[in-house]
Amino acid sequence: MTEKTVTILGSTGSIGKSTIDVLLKANIPFRIKALVGNQNVSLLAKQAEILKPEMVVTADETKYLELKKLLNKQNVHVAAGKNAVVEAAKLDADWTMSAIVGAAGLEPSVEVIKRGKILALANKETLVCAGKLVMEMIKKYNTTLIPVDSEHSAIFQCLANNKKTEVDHLLLTASGGPFFLKDKEYMANVTPQQALKHPNWSMGAKISIDSATMMNKGLEIIEAFYLFNLPAEKINVLIHPQSIIHSAVAYIDGAVIAQLGNPDMKTPIAYAFGWPNRIDAKIAKLDLTKIASLTFFTPDEEKFPALKLAKQALKIGCEATNVLNAANEIAVNAFLNQKIRFLDIAKVVKKVLENINTFNLNSIDDALALDNLAREKAKIVIKKMEEK
Ligand code: NAD
Ligand code: MG
Repeated sequence: MTEKTVTILGSTGSIGKSTIDVLLKANIPFRIKALVGNQNVSLLAKQAEILKPEMVVTADETKYLELKKLLNKQNVHVAAGKNAVVEAAKLDADWTMSAIVGAAGLEPSVEVIKRGKILALANKETLVCAGKLVMEMIKKYNTTLIPVDSEHSAIFQCLANNKKTEVDHLLLTASGGPFFLKDKEYMANVTPQQALKHPNWSMGAKISIDSATMMNKGLEIIEAFYLFNLPAEKINVLIHPQSIIHSAVAYIDGAVIAQLGNPDMKTPIAYAFGWPNRIDAKIAKLDLTKIASLTFFTPDEEKFPALKLAKQALKIGCEATNVLNAANEIAVNAFLNQKIRFLDIAKVVKKVLENINTFNLNSIDDALALDNLAREKAKIVIKKMEEK
């Protein structure tokens, strides 16, 4: 088997760590070009000791000396800062995992796309911030884009070999998050610790909060819209609390093809790494007799307004989805820092969406500028909330 060269953007995060686990257990020879992390430089250095990359980057410039010291015995190029993250993405890896959290993942993802190889995309924000431009670039540079988000990996697998014209609709499954069975009064007073506790998945902080507000599913509708090029009306959300069916495609003849598995991101990561083949990365197999029952519900958009906001933004266009994402990132951060309450997250996003005038996105720089503008507006909205 030929050796694959690999870069992991966001190697110290939840997806990054699972990616390393898959690489080490799969029977495919690989060599690491770059590892990129942020503040956890001790883990980054440990990963570098094991994986011997050419380059190690921390996005946080204040951590440069610490990382350099930790790696002083190793022959590796150590760098820090936003530009170094982009430089790492430019290294010519055959396969790149894009798993930085938030809009910070956009620029590095774009650099990977420009190299025309394989982009395994976990960072859904890349598509929410600039989906139209990103998909145009994928075409232009003939890049292979493999979705890693479990729902999109599932749909990608269920669509294989079938014609788009034969698709009736997509069923994007959602666990419902930790507050699926709670009412709004309960949600009004939840702490970050409660919101971070996802019933099925173990994930980074930002996506865990997004799952609790169901903004995550909203972002995923937008992600599916750009990835699969289907009208928004054909992307239906289905609550499925067990997280065993990762999503499904309903065809015009009445057939529904679903992809099942344990709630373990290593499976979609392994699919993306092995593609177009399937590989054995020693992942625990699904035992349906232990699951016993699978249940389904319709989402409640009144209880989870983030879902409605995301759909509205998608209808307006990629400028609005960019703003939605930026405002959400700032609001989630404010909630985690206990500056606003849980239900305020969607309120902040709504306010910012109402306050941004039309803005045409013609380039990635435009997308980054709009993202910045929306962040500033969100901070103002939050400040006003705090003063009340
Ligand atoms: P995480 O918070 O656990 O990890 C984020 C990674 O990004 C870390 O390595 C961190 O060091 C790095 N990072 C943070 N800010 C950075 C910056 N400014 N520049 C460079 N690197 C930076 O997050 P996660 O849960 O692994 O999620 C990563 C991405 O994958 C997100 O976009 C998320 O929506 C998506 N995703 C995650 C899961 C999951 O199960 N965790 C599932 C589907 C999709
Ligand atoms: Mg998902």
